[in-house]
Amino acid sequence: MIRVDTPLPEFVNWPTFPFSGSLTVRPLEPPALPEPPRDGEEIANCRACQAHDDAYIWVDERWRVKATDQPPGLPLVLYLEPRMHLDLGDLPNLEAAELGLLTVRIERAMRSLPGVARVHVNRWGDGAAHLHFCFLARPAGALQLRGSFLSMWDDILPPISTHDWRENQSFVAAWLADQGGTSMLAS
Ligand SMILES: [Zn+2]
Repeated sequence: MIRVDTPLPEFVNWPTFPFSGSLTVRPLEPPALPEPPRDGEEIANCRACQAHDDAYIWVDERWRVKATDQPPGLPLVLYLEPRMHLDLGDLPNLEAAELGLLTVRIERAMRSLPGVARVHVNRWGDGAAHLHFCFLARPAGALQLRGSFLSMWDDILPPISTHDWRENQSFVAAWLADQGGTSMLAS
């Protein structure tokens, strides 16, 4: 059992760790079994399944890409979702193969944005049930933002301008549409 006087892990001393000062480890709660359902386990209450294409920046027959609801702290944060209400391990072979292609395309497009050094790809599945991959662009030269704390830094940094945010979305949507599908931001 984790106790409140558990020693802190080494990563709190890394220069990329966003916090300083006095920290303690939260006590670990006992297992909650069976686990509660995630958001949108059923199609009827799944936000992804109920969303229209115009909530996305790019779509094709089987996939959709959307931006965050508000300007992020990073140059761009995008989500890739299948149209089918599935989790990662349930994707049919066609969708599984396309996931690889799209992951590469989105990474390349976002990395080609001015001022972006690197793009990190996250897949977490504890919140929303509908599969979603998150792509986070790290600003060039921001060495303090390197690595796995980047998603925390996104919440900490002040939001970028709406103008820059929309430009970055349009750039990626157009890049993806060059290879197929439709940019929903095209004028
Ligand atoms: Zn769904």
